[in-house]
Amino acid sequence: MAEKAPVFEHLALIGVGLIGSSIARAARAAGAARMIVATARSVETRKRVAELGIVDQVVESNAEAAKGADLVIVCAPVGACGAIAAEIGAALKPGAILSDVGSVKGAIVKDMAPHVPAHAHFIPAHPVAGTEHSGPDAGFAELFQNRWCILTPLSGADAKAVEKLKRFWERLGSNVETMDPAHHDLTLAITSHLPHLIAYNIVGTAADLEEVTSSEVMKFSAGGFRDFTRIAASDPTMWRDVFLNNKEAVLEMLGRFNEDLASLTRAIRMGDGQTLFDLFTRTRGIRRSIIEIGQETAAPDFGRPHGVQEPTTPMPRPYASGD
Ligand code: NAP
Repeated sequence: MAEKAPVFEHLALIGVGLIGSSIARAARAAGAARMIVATARSVETRKRVAELGIVDQVVESNAEAAKGADLVIVCAPVGACGAIAAEIGAALKPGAILSDVGSVKGAIVKDMAPHVPAHAHFIPAHPVAGTEHSGPDAGFAELFQNRWCILTPLSGADAKAVEKLKRFWERLGSNVETMDPAHHDLTLAITSHLPHLIAYNIVGTAADLEEVTSSEVMKFSAGGFRDFTRIAASDPTMWRDVFLNNKEAVLEMLGRFNEDLASLTRAIRMGDGQTLFDLFTRTRGIRRSIIEIGQETAAPDFGRPHGVQEPTTPMPRPYASGD
């Protein structure tokens, strides 16, 4: 059978951590780009990427990476993306697509769009897939399989460029949806950002408990705590930037969460078992329907290269650590 033609001739990756290195591996495995050029901030990461041999060329500066590329994907923490766009704007060739993978979209648009020249297309994106690991060794080619990738093109974006980026993500195994950046940020605030905040908080609370020793916390962690620790191991820089850059939506969801928590607190205090039972029955149903639609297995998600799921009817997942 004839191999499919690459979607892009020349792909540039700026930042080669979990996401950037997974894109490199997936793009190569799927033949989505004929040539992949990459760079990262530190000499160490650039050296490691070259050793791993997951791209065709490693270069030293962001502008050098962007030069001549048909698709440039910035795979750095959200807070660094504006400065990167300012550095590479002038290097983008006519018709080039500039995209990103940031977990927040409103701030990305605000920070990056002003630096994109009129002759290039800016199409922000967010692959809703991840793990709690970071760095170029953490990536794997199957990360995006049967996961959603959300594109948030600006109004008036070139339809052909949007379609081409969609085809790229589909080639990597993703299901692609298009959304307004503000709607993306509100949706992800509840499905991804708030769960991470809760995990960071509960692990912090447990760590501070004096009545329960830390060895007991570790020993009995299978009682539910362990899943939180996995999420709370997610990259501190990435998640700091998510909360700083999606402040309004997270605060809105946190307000609702606190109200619901107050109702549960009251139910426990009043001995209102029916309220607790009803909620737990409803939430168990939600978990079961997520498994049914193929967005989760009964087993933990992490280290998915060993247990990649078969594509089924997709729907946005509630969260995976690192989304
Ligand atoms: P990561 O593993 O920590 O990798 C970040 C990469 O960005 C590193 O290669 C780093 O280089 C590079 N970098 C940082 N600042 C840079 C700069 N100014 N110029 C060039 N490169 C720079 O992070 P990640 O998990 O891949 O996350 C990257 C982006 O993906 C974030 O915006 C995050 O919101 C988004 N995202 C993450 C997940 C997830 O599960 N982790 C899921 C979906 C989307 P050095 O190694 O040299 O510092």
